[in-house]
Amino acid sequence: MTSPPLRIVLATRNPHKLEELRRILAVQWPPKSAGNATGAFDIVGLDDVPGVPEVVEDGETFADNAVKKAVTVAKHTGLVAIADDSGLEVDALNGMPGVLSARWSGRHGADEANLRLVLDQVADVPDERRGAAFVCAAVAARPDGAVLVREGRVDGCLLRAARGSGGFGYDPIFLPDGSELTTAEMAPEAKDAISHRGRALRALAADLPAFLAELPA
Ligand code: IMP
Repeated sequence: MTSPPLRIVLATRNPHKLEELRRILAVQWPPKSAGNATGAFDIVGLDDVPGVPEVVEDGETFADNAVKKAVTVAKHTGLVAIADDSGLEVDALNGMPGVLSARWSGRHGADEANLRLVLDQVADVPDERRGAAFVCAAVAARPDGAVLVREGRVDGCLLRAARGSGGFGYDPIFLPDGSELTTAEMAPEAKDAISHRGRALRALAADLPAFLAELPA
């Protein structure tokens, strides 16, 4: 008799991120059948596990926030949880918005206002000093509180006007190094291949089986 696949909760309510996380993990563990199940795990979102308390993202680093989210969800549900925290670091703004990326303009998730504010803040910065990076910390947490942390980044620069309609957040103004397309102009799979989240999650997924092998029965 085969045991059912281990259930993993993705600790996000952001539908764009949920979609990206699922897509990246599905490449790592190709689905054997339709539905949520990948080849190795049954992956569900936070909406599938009601009652998980909101987590205040008040950490100093992406890893702090991702650990806090993953541990809260794993302890509350008794399931393995995967969380990520990510953002944009702009050289000319001393690494900001950083952990404040989602609420840079003052309102959480106001993507358009956040992007406009960053563009205005670097309006006078010359091309050679418009470097920026997307950075991501991906974390798996077990119900016993143990965590696995992996990070990924993609370096690039900020354009002066938005280009492209894909992705989310700051994608329309971010040109990765070596690319002629912004991350909002790339096909989703092309963005995943180079993105901070893709890199962090692939590194996490590679080490996850060993991390889970230590799970108490
Ligand atoms: P988080 O949901 O707390 O990780 O906040 C992430 C915020 O950083 C988002 O709201 C976006 O503003 C920005 N961000 C993170 N990853 C990306 C990306 O892949 N493209 C564009 N913006 C991103």
